[in-house]
Amino acid sequence: MPLRYAAAFALAGLFCGPALHAQTPSDTARWFKGNTHTHTLNSDGDSTPDAVVRWYREHGYQFLVLTDHNFLTSVDALNALHGADQKFLVVKGEEVTDRLGPKPLHINGLDVDGLVAPQGGSSVVDILQRNVDAIRAARGVPHINHPNFRWAITLDELRQVRNTKLFEVFNGHPEVNNLGGGGVPGLEEAWDAILSSGTLLYGIAVDDAHVFRQPGNPNVSGPGRGWVMVRAQRLEPRLLLEALERGDFYASTGVILDDVRAEGRTMTVSVKADEFAKYRVQFIGQQGRVLREVAAAHATYEFTGDEGYVRARVLESNGRMAWVQPVLVQTGPPAAAAAAALSVGGLGALSWLVWWRLPRPHRGDRKLQSLRGERLTQEVDGNETFQPGPAGHQPRGLDRRVQQ
Ligand SMILES: [Zn+2]
Ligand SMILES: [Zn+2]
Repeated sequence: MPLRYAAAFALAGLFCGPALHAQTPSDTARWFKGNTHTHTLNSDGDSTPDAVVRWYREHGYQFLVLTDHNFLTSVDALNALHGADQKFLVVKGEEVTDRLGPKPLHINGLDVDGLVAPQGGSSVVDILQRNVDAIRAARGVPHINHPNFRWAITLDELRQVRNTKLFEVFNGHPEVNNLGGGGVPGLEEAWDAILSSGTLLYGIAVDDAHVFRQPGNPNVSGPGRGWVMVRAQRLEPRLLLEALERGDFYASTGVILDDVRAEGRTMTVSVKADEFAKYRVQFIGQQGRVLREVAAAHATYEFTGDEGYVRARVLESNGRMAWVQPVLVQTGPPAAAAAAALSVGGLGALSWLVWWRLPRPHRGDRKLQSLRGERLTQEVDGNETFQPGPAGHQPRGLDRRVQQ
């Protein structure tokens, strides 16, 4: 987002609070269901691009990114055949597939301009960073895939990668160890540790589907297991990707939300409830602590102002889940209002980021000056970082080393 454009949001967020809602995409935007990680015969999938696209079109998705290993499948003919305005879209992409010894290091490049070759490097972080940068150079959006696959990427390594906003908190492949184990944290625990350290990441859910010819077999990487619901004005690649990178989406393994928003001083989650199921909504803050749990399909959390960040998780009684993206909540009521003034996701964080960078005369208010001394939202090599919470709280788990 151009700085000047974002600055308007930032100032509006600070001074207008909830009134800004009228300017957020949520009033006219729609939810689009999509999967950003899929394989075909062009790498190690078992079906043609045509059959793969057909599966998603026929199962209620609005968009699909084809991401074969080190191969960029053309989507023009697929869109001519299956695409329909505001109904279905195929987005080009690639799973840039690199490694360090036995460790697979895979980074998706969504809507890259051209094929991105694996960049190599001297360490896990170096390889991830080089590939992220190459994807950015190709005007693509990176997401870091299945960190616990072959236990390749520790949370401390994941935390160090810059210029990327997205990682897979859930991957539907049966061998990717989403939940961790043997002393290695699960991906949600890693996410909270990273957020608690002051680095903003958004969690996506994907299929990583390879196998379309064995429906119902849980031991193969079939489709339909994890997806994102993206809030965008129109079904267009760039609008979808921009929404993902500002956190205006939720990840799901089966829970559908009627709405989710963070505005004023509250975050509200409304589940599109199945009459046969029951739900719990958990609001989560520093170190993964559950700040509030509501045993219902509709839940509201009121920011206290010192949470650092707040995200939400919906648990359905059959094991399905939804992950709502974190919003940054800084100490003090004005900060909480600013962080929460925008719709769900990182727009609040962006507000603070931009406000921090505005020329001093634009934020000469004495109150804001004092806030300035208390906030540390800043940009480091393209990543947003923030003061991780109440003074004296040290992130837990960041020094944990994974046994390979
Ligand atoms: Zn992979
Ligand atoms: Zn894959």
